[in-house]
Amino acid sequence: LKELVVITGASSGLGLSTTIALANSGSYHVIMACRDTEKAKRVAEENGLPKGSYTVMKLELASLQSVRDFVANLKAFKGARPLKNLICNAAVYLPKDPEPSFTDDGFEMSMGVNHLGHFLLVNLLLDDMSKAKGARCCIVGSITGNTNTVGGGLVYPRADLGKLQGFQKGMKQPIAMADGKPFFGAKAYKDAKVCNMMTVSELHRRYHEDTGIVFSSMYPGCIAETALFREKREWFRKLFPLFMKYVTGGYVSEKEAGERLAQVIADPKCNKSDVYWSWNGKANTVGYINKDGVVAGAGGSGGEIFENEQSSAVQDKEMAKTMWDLSKKVVGLD
Ligand code: NDP
Repeated sequence: LKELVVITGASSGLGLSTTIALANSGSYHVIMACRDTEKAKRVAEENGLPKGSYTVMKLELASLQSVRDFVANLKAFKGARPLKNLICNAAVYLPKDPEPSFTDDGFEMSMGVNHLGHFLLVNLLLDDMSKAKGARCCIVGSITGNTNTVGGGLVYPRADLGKLQGFQKGMKQPIAMADGKPFFGAKAYKDAKVCNMMTVSELHRRYHEDTGIVFSSMYPGCIAETALFREKREWFRKLFPLFMKYVTGGYVSEKEAGERLAQVIADPKCNKSDVYWSWNGKANTVGYINKDGVVAGAGGSGGEIFENEQSSAVQDKEMAKTMWDLSKKVVGLD
């Protein structure tokens, strides 16, 4: 019997390549949870996904109502139940926007889609997933949210949740940033990624023992050609993949990145909770800075999977707990 796996943002980039890897393996039925269902159906056909290996379902992460509707539709789904695997992959990156945009519920778009929408989704699905034996939940992270990396620590701006002043005040329009400061798109993305990774650790601390669900995060490598960089200028989008390939060595193809994320779900080796998975591929400079101050490879093509270290900011348990409690409040779970 096939295992059920939900992948958010399955209609492009990493989400699509992971869908292709898992659907073609024959062992999974993929629920493609997408904001544009027509696009999702089209790309599924274009990529020749086997009939019966996937179902497209509407999920607009910029609307808490849509998240709730998705969960109701999923619970009514007649295929392999209960839900065994959940991949929170969808994201927006809005480095060029001079002004913030807001979700239906008034959250700044990157924090709303990347973190808060997924936060509600995971919370609403925990109960169902705890009925499946060996369930796994992976929230895609990034080195950019990890200030112990060159990409996250030296490339301006750094992620910084401050004292969560924005969250304390309800995180709704006109509040645009977690720290309550003026809107800064590139930073909002990094802040949301920190929240994603903290959410994984909190999920582990709160629910792993009781539910058996394995919670993890991962860094796929720099997939320099995806639509994530759609706001960047033409020259950047041409040169960035070459720079990542030949200068930093951090480049990874969509296909390989998808196989990595699929591995986190399928490999018996990855049956360990509270891990931030990475691959020690060819990266020269985008690696993480380990305890001894040495830049170790992370990202890049090839190499072996390993348990990566997270920055002290991501590991701050008190901050993670406050972030969790406030997120619950702002999405209406309290
Ligand atoms: P893409 O832009 O190709 O994929 C993002 C996906 O999210 C798309 O399918 C998009 O839908 C979906 N999405 C965006 N907004 C919403 C929304 N409001 N509701 C539902 N779905 C939405 O980027 P990537 O594949 O590169 O990014 C995937 C993940 O990988 C992200 O979490 C990103 O942070 C992470 N990542 C990427 C890296 C990279 O180098 N590219 C490096 C490290 C991490 P649609 O198809 O309709 O546009």
